[in-house]
Amino acid sequence: MSIESTNFETIAIRTQTERSQNNEHSVPLYLTSSFAFDDAEHARALFADEVQGNIYTRFSNPNTSELIEKLCLLEGAEDGFATATGMSAVFSSMATFLSQGDHVLLCKSVFGSTVQIVTQIFPRWGIEYTYADIHKPGTWESLIKPNTKMVLIETPSNPALDLVDLEWLGKLCKSKGILLNVDNCFATPYLQNPIKWGADIVTHSATKYIDGQGRVLGGVILSSKALIEKVRFFCRHSGPAMSPFNAWILSKSLETLAVRMDRHCSNALEIAQFLEQHSDVELVKYPFLPSHPQHELAKKQMKAGGGIVTFLVKGGVERGRKFINSLQLSSHCANLGDTRTIITHPASTTHSKISESDRESVGILPGLIRVSVGLEHIDDIKKDIEQALKASKM
Ligand SMILES: *Cc1c(COP(=O)(O)O)cnc(C)c1O
Repeated sequence: MSIESTNFETIAIRTQTERSQNNEHSVPLYLTSSFAFDDAEHARALFADEVQGNIYTRFSNPNTSELIEKLCLLEGAEDGFATATGMSAVFSSMATFLSQGDHVLLCKSVFGSTVQIVTQIFPRWGIEYTYADIHKPGTWESLIKPNTKMVLIETPSNPALDLVDLEWLGKLCKSKGILLNVDNCFATPYLQNPIKWGADIVTHSATKYIDGQGRVLGGVILSSKALIEKVRFFCRHSGPAMSPFNAWILSKSLETLAVRMDRHCSNALEIAQFLEQHSDVELVKYPFLPSHPQHELAKKQMKAGGGIVTFLVKGGVERGRKFINSLQLSSHCANLGDTRTIITHPASTTHSKISESDRESVGILPGLIRVSVGLEHIDDIKKDIEQALKASKM
């Protein structure tokens, strides 16, 4: 259903599939694997792409179509495809376009499983890669080879919260005819729209802020009509489709994304400011703190700083572990972008398998703590961090 507004909140709430004869106010869940044809001619026309319509839920379903329609409007994309997980979105967005002999340029700081795909799986299929140093954008152009087909980035990076200048990179990729693929999971479509700055493809792990309540997994690929036609062919036949139930949940989640992100961002800024004043904290990284080295860039390409804050606790790995064990309110688990505050120590968990020098090259110092600031009352989040800092003093 098309609406007049260009405002994020109204699009997220009022874009919905047509009502059925039951006139339901809230869009129902279409739990069906297939859709009946009117007659032999209708079936033939559907398969020949002569008419639009649902055939089978691996191809499309009213719930996934609604989710995609909303996200296209919110990200400034023409079309999209919804997948079962964020990783299936990232994988399909690469596998659709990369062939034997192609080369990918990526930041070492992209999501761990993305690094595994590019470094462990794609080389078996003859697709090579080079790491681009997020701190030295001036070197990127020289890393582009004649067979470079795609540049893959995340901004802000995880967990160091370094930024990539999207306008600069968009122009560079365009001038070289290379696809720019941005995993926009940390920023969400509410805070940053990479397509506006020249990205060709945007992916999301909808599991994070888009659901925002830690309930379902999901991913989306958003792009132009022409590129999504290729993605749709790849996904229709390889089968990573999102379930209608998850699409229904995520479509409802989008209705509250703006208000949730506003609070995630204001809570995170307050936590960042609090940590910056604390004598046991060596360094705080948050894109909307004036002390962030790329604060000006953050203000240019992001609406607010996001919900993640990282800081360096004095005392290294041991203090970091002790700090985690002293938390009373915050959760300790492998997720982010939840209503609940989640605190992790990357050096001893998610990034423990990589060498210390590799960790340091992406900003993961031994005492680095990542806080996914939740929606609990700010006073309680602050109190928990404060008491854990005190209890972990060595
Ligand atoms: C979590 C995450 C993914 C993977 O998403 P899943 O839904 O867990 O498959 C990809 N990219 C980023 C930046 C993430 O944080």
